[in-house]
Amino acid sequence: MKIIVSIKQVPDTSGKVSVNPDGTLDRASMQTITNPDDMNALEAALKIKDETGCKVIVVTMGPAPAAGMLREALAMGADEAYIASAREFGGSDTYATSQILAATINTIGVEKDDIVICGRQAIDGDTAQVGPQIAEKLHLPQITYAADIQKDGDTITVRRMLEDGYMTIKTKTPCLITCIKELNTPRYMSVSGVFEAYSKPLTTFNYESLKDDPLIDKTTIGLKGSPTNIFKSFTPPQKGAGIMLEGNDRKTCDKLASMLIEKHII
Ligand SMILES: Cc1cc2nc3c(=O)[nH]c(=O)nc-3n(C[C@H](O)[C@H](O)[C@H](O)COP(=O)(O)OP(=O)(O)OC[C@H]3O[C@@H](n4cnc5c(N)ncnc54)[C@H](O)[C@@H]3O)c2cc1C
Repeated sequence: MKIIVSIKQVPDTSGKVSVNPDGTLDRASMQTITNPDDMNALEAALKIKDETGCKVIVVTMGPAPAAGMLREALAMGADEAYIASAREFGGSDTYATSQILAATINTIGVEKDDIVICGRQAIDGDTAQVGPQIAEKLHLPQITYAADIQKDGDTITVRRMLEDGYMTIKTKTPCLITCIKELNTPRYMSVSGVFEAYSKPLTTFNYESLKDDPLIDKTTIGLKGSPTNIFKSFTPPQKGAGIMLEGNDRKTCDKLASMLIEKHII
């Protein structure tokens, strides 16, 4: 059994965010981190590894420096890493990205007992499309928004967190799960893990390695092939400070109601 975790290197938006004159992110000038939801995905996989002794593989698509993020995942306890990196993949939208990641995972191989885990959403692209699209391409059942994962043999039970409650779903492996931050608290790298990380295998898949995979359509990858294009990017205007009403009495409630009625909100 193995668990394949898809992790993305993203700009650290808690620091200074720089934008190019054309409105795109100036990624080169920004610090990078592993996408936060993906840290929860990795922790979920490592927890199952602690319990079952399974293998954990991390994969990413991105420029060569993203291999540093994979080394950190190896230091946390992952066993193997793969990076899909090529000029031809640059500028891919979510449709193209999920094709490349699905082909990467397909090349590694998904067997009956395996699980693929993604974060729910990346903090830069922010679409939450890539996990479900990988599942579609690999023909795997998918469960999104996982706040708890239990494995019992080939049965996976996931508690999904929705806006207004929880939903529990069971499925059989192989399957794909996307997870949210409520799932767990990611572990730190250990000192021995950092040393071991450099002797663990990290493989690069370039365009040649993946171009003939049946899940790749060469006409719909990279910037040119991506079906979506950014035609405008802008910073939304700052919202006003808002109005604070003090008190929890009837008078305050009536005042709030009349303000909302006045603005045709209720
Ligand atoms: C026209 C266009 C051009 C773009 N050009 C670029 C560009 O040049 N450079 C760039 O960095 N981005 C670019 N993007 C953004 C890029 O498409 C998205 O960052 C990427 O496709 C993932 O989408 P997302 O960030 O919304 O991921 P989400 O769907 O929100 O991510 C969900 C989960 O999928 C997995 N995942 C997503 N992306 C990756 C990845 N790359 N590797 C491993 N796992 C992943 C992670 O587990 C993640 O938590 C472009 C987007 C468009 C529309």
